Amino acid sequence: MAYPYTLPSLPYAYDALEPYIDAKTMEIHLHKHQQAYVDKLNEALKDHPSLQKKELVDLILNLEKLPEKVRDKVRNQGGGHLNHSMFWVLMKKKGGKPTGPIHTAIKKQFGSFDTFKEKFTEAAKTRFGSGWAWLIVNPKGDLEVVSTANQDNPLTAGAIPLLGLDVWEHAYYLKYQSKRPDYIDAWWHVVNWDQVNDYYQI
Ligand code: MN
Repeated sequence: MAYPYTLPSLPYAYDALEPYIDAKTMEIHLHKHQQAYVDKLNEALKDHPSLQKKELVDLILNLEKLPEKVRDKVRNQGGGHLNHSMFWVLMKKKGGKPTGPIHTAIKKQFGSFDTFKEKFTEAAKTRFGSGWAWLIVNPKGDLEVVSTANQDNPLTAGAIPLLGLDVWEHAYYLKYQSKRPDYIDAWWHVVNWDQVNDYYQI
């Protein structure tokens, strides 16, 4: 992904994740929320031709090297664009349980898929305010569940994100109102573990 940034298209229909995530939420989430991150990121970089040539991931990996004027914008708007672009492909119709190498690694690290699921759900439920829950490969090379505030991506902490769940209210409020735990429970049905395996094997 590079400047000028554009909205990705979903790899499925807006209603593909029904009844777990509703079509209207998907549409607004993509076309209003992510579009705003894209627009503000492009605006932030418009007078910085040298930064326009870099990949978004490189900018996010090197936030401290960016001019102060654009640093927070790349962190928040660039993070928003990157996180959502990952989020869409990490879901699919008829998702479900992990298979393959990531399943083996989860069992090894957490004991069982259910224990991992509890940990991840807890991280997502207890993230105060807006943010994300993640399954990452930490800098030591182990799988770990973490959460981040706002649009921060685990990449900035030297980790590799494998699976992310958006727990901003805009991700669930239309259907679930204040019931974030119900949204989290529903989301497990649409997790695209094939994509998690792809990220894990890079
Ligand atoms: Mn979002």
